[in-house]
Amino acid sequence: MAKILTESDIFAEIENMVSSAKKFIVIISPYVSIEMINRILYLRNNNSSDVFLQIYCLSAYKHFNFSDKEKFDKEKKTFDDYFREISKFKNNRNFLLHPVDVLYDDPCLLDSSEMGYRSLFHCKCFFNEERFIISSMNLSSRVDRCELGILFYMLKNKKIYESLISWYLDFFCLKVHGEKYDKSYLFDRHKFGACIRCGCNIFFNYKFNVYGIEHKSESYCKLCYIDWGLAGAKNCKEVYCHFCGNENNSICTLLPVERSCLDKYRSLLPS
Ligand SMILES: [Zn+2]
Ligand SMILES: [Zn+2]
Repeated sequence: MAKILTESDIFAEIENMVSSAKKFIVIISPYVSIEMINRILYLRNNNSSDVFLQIYCLSAYKHFNFSDKEKFDKEKKTFDDYFREISKFKNNRNFLLHPVDVLYDDPCLLDSSEMGYRSLFHCKCFFNEERFIISSMNLSSRVDRCELGILFYMLKNKKIYESLISWYLDFFCLKVHGEKYDKSYLFDRHKFGACIRCGCNIFFNYKFNVYGIEHKSESYCKLCYIDWGLAGAKNCKEVYCHFCGNENNSICTLLPVERSCLDKYRSLLPS
């Protein structure tokens, strides 16, 4: 049977879900707080940092009130700096943070149906390979509100669980990433690398050649790729090694992996 969750149960079950995950954790919550993301990362890392963790949320712009400009600037900066730090390849392995609205605010990533979709991003769900929680609660600081949730188990509610995973892959995941994914997206092991401009986690790109010429865009995260494109898509001096996330001043668009990592990198290229 599915389990009905009241406000006191919801966070406890989210914690159980994170702590018991063996393969992946997905959190979809428009609003998030620094305190709560820290808690999730702590529990995930305590369990196993090999578990692939993804958080979909709105960016800092949607979290704070613009009317107090000074307060907004201060809070937004704290939030942005925090997001950059936790998303770094060097700081948290196997972790992707998706600021959904930022991706959609860029006109080159939008079509009219996606534009509508962005404004509909209101659902909250929390799941791993065994449990799926749908709740009215965001992953933000706990206050006394009347919240309600429901927990489905993959083994006891197989059909519902599988339909929910399909919904995530076909609708949510497809819209956010602009690509079609199947179940392997969640279940396969991923090799991560660093965005060469901001250092955040991205999938390591096996496809481009040693000099990065054929697929040079793929060593940037989506946000930095937009900036790079807007600035003329030229060879730019960048900061982080795509392979290991170290800072190195030899990194540029055409050479995204530092010399000392090139051999390790070559061994991963398909022969
Ligand atoms: Zn980046
Ligand atoms: Zn390196």
